[in-house]
Amino acid sequence: MTELFQLLESSPPLFTGVCVVLGLLVGSFLNVVIHRIPKMMELGWRQQCAELHSEEPVHSEPYNLLVPRSACPHCHHAISAWENIPVISYLLLRGRCRGCHAAISPRYPIIEAASGILCGFAAWHFGFGLAAVGAILLIWALLALTAIDFDTQLLPDDITLPLIWTGLLFNLYGAFTTLHDAFLGAVLGYLALWSVYWLFKLVTGKEGMGYGDFKLLAALGAWLGWQILPLMIILSSLVGAVVGITLIVAVKHGRDIPIPFGPYLAGGGLIALFWGKTLTQNYLQLLAQ
Ligand SMILES: [Zn+2]
Repeated sequence: MTELFQLLESSPPLFTGVCVVLGLLVGSFLNVVIHRIPKMMELGWRQQCAELHSEEPVHSEPYNLLVPRSACPHCHHAISAWENIPVISYLLLRGRCRGCHAAISPRYPIIEAASGILCGFAAWHFGFGLAAVGAILLIWALLALTAIDFDTQLLPDDITLPLIWTGLLFNLYGAFTTLHDAFLGAVLGYLALWSVYWLFKLVTGKEGMGYGDFKLLAALGAWLGWQILPLMIILSSLVGAVVGITLIVAVKHGRDIPIPFGPYLAGGGLIALFWGKTLTQNYLQLLAQ
């Protein structure tokens, strides 16, 4: 084992390659997470409602991240191992199910490829060590949260809360910042959006974002330190405003339909993960002038 670690440490291209393959494989699992976590949450809520109303608990087949096996949503053809090779299977099958030839969403290979590329980039950027491991875990969580928020406007606690604790844990060993800055990042990240939420609600009477957004910014503060928070809010609001206005103007997307904020926070988080320190230093210097 130590020999393997030494080999990976001595050869950045090899370490990068290993992380690309790992990223592709886990990307395939992320597709399962993205698809099933919202359904698992809904099942859980139904069961709680049934209990509250003292009805018979809802009996259902086991449904979690491992069971049942993946199948085509159209013809229920079980997906075999060779049909499940990240990106490659999609290309070989020309984007169609082998059983019924229904189109497979290009989102599957896109998530797999994004995971592979980002993990490889993290390995190259940080080099062999704790920061690369942390960056890869953070990338996986952000990819899953982005897709789930996009689909359902939810950021599940099952992902955001463990992300806060793991961020603090990695920084206990100084992976990205000091524990002091990480701790303040978690608290201030939550408070920042919580205050925006209440201000917005008092002024307009509407709810502009969800509690999931506060937890996600708290998690990013825990991973990257409080210093990146102003940058994060500026980056995600800018991108969010541009996309939001475009949607309202171009597609006549109703103004009252919520536009998920999570994907912008996650995108800002990725930028901050790789270039946050440089960007923060630059704008602090600009302010000081
Ligand atoms: Zn099918």
